[in-house]
Amino acid sequence: MDYIKNAVKLRRELHQIPELGWGEFCTTAKILETIEPLGWKTFVGVEQIGLDAVMGRPEDFVEKSKKRALEEGVDPTLIERMHGYTGTIAELDTGRPGPVTALRFDIDCVGVEETDLKDHLPNKENFRSRHAGVMHSCGHDGHTAVGLTMAQWIVDHKDQLCGRIKLIFQPAEEGVRGGAAQAASGLLDDVNYLLGAHLAMMCPTGEVCVYPEGVLCTTKLDVRFKGRPAHPTMSPHLGRNALACACTCVSELLGMARHGKGLGCINVGMMQAGEGRNVIPVHAQVQLEVRGETAEINDFMVDQANRIVKGTALAYDVDYEVEKVGEAGELNNDPELASLVTEVAGSLPSCERVVQHKKLGCSEDFTMLATRVKAAGGKSEFFVVGADRTAAHHQREFDFDEKGLETAFGIFKGCVLKLNGI
Ligand SMILES: [Zn+2]
Repeated sequence: MDYIKNAVKLRRELHQIPELGWGEFCTTAKILETIEPLGWKTFVGVEQIGLDAVMGRPEDFVEKSKKRALEEGVDPTLIERMHGYTGTIAELDTGRPGPVTALRFDIDCVGVEETDLKDHLPNKENFRSRHAGVMHSCGHDGHTAVGLTMAQWIVDHKDQLCGRIKLIFQPAEEGVRGGAAQAASGLLDDVNYLLGAHLAMMCPTGEVCVYPEGVLCTTKLDVRFKGRPAHPTMSPHLGRNALACACTCVSELLGMARHGKGLGCINVGMMQAGEGRNVIPVHAQVQLEVRGETAEINDFMVDQANRIVKGTALAYDVDYEVEKVGEAGELNNDPELASLVTEVAGSLPSCERVVQHKKLGCSEDFTMLATRVKAAGGKSEFFVVGADRTAAHHQREFDFDEKGLETAFGIFKGCVLKLNGI
């Protein structure tokens, strides 16, 4: 079988059915339909999700996504098995004693409408997004395609392998929401080695980076204030102004103290408040995120944010709630696995250059899975596989050089052979 050709074909199929985080019903069905006939044991729905750790998953959006999948002809029995929770963790036991190695691939897309530029490869080759308003503009279609190709390769080469292999197809990476939920399933607690990768980012085709830097810890918070309505002139003293509270809160949030040990950022990206001109405003909501170079810095920012919300709510005598809707931690690659990736990548004809350190400036909830694996004594490594881009990630014109699929597949394959080869 030509695995590279297969990866490109799958990538182009997946590119046509992009789905936002927690709504990846078509994508999950395609994954299950591809790997279950190969003999992979799959954990589906709530079997692969720690319900207490689910973040940023609006129920009405999930229902709408499920409905669309059914309308598009996805097998209803598969949808049923998902219990509303997308993604899957698959396992293959070689029957021989050996380590447990897990490979992680994220499967969701971004909420931008794909460009109609004629030169854009998905337009030229006729595989553009069939879902209005959303597209794979971060390359996760490529990640999923590599994961599915690995599923095939591992089965084909089972006789040369020992131990167990797990494939983690993670939902809702955008907004760093799904990683914590899959980590909390406990299905990674026996993992010795966890590997994950991202295509493109700041690396051109032919380059591989084994220690991406500037991967920031982050926490996403939704804040809701609830006041009390009243007539603004007749009885303003009976009202409790949620809008005024939110305004003060946002100013305080933006001015919070920074940490001396390194970079810490806060962004308030959304504020909505009020009902109408002649009523003391009852409702206000604020969406914010903090980021930190280390977990310590990020925690410092989160603590302040919580205190500011609590303090302003107290000052204005309104009720409040804070919901954590996303979270990612520190990226701590293990030196043993990093040198393995360096060695394997260096031996691939498609890889011209392995760089050790490169600054990215993003957040990744792979770190949530890695933290869990590390807590149970395992090791993890997250690397970047270069692929020339036509535009930056999350833009409408984004596309990546499909040669990156060959390198990504080559690295995962080489690492599995080294870690689980007999
Ligand atoms: Zn991404």
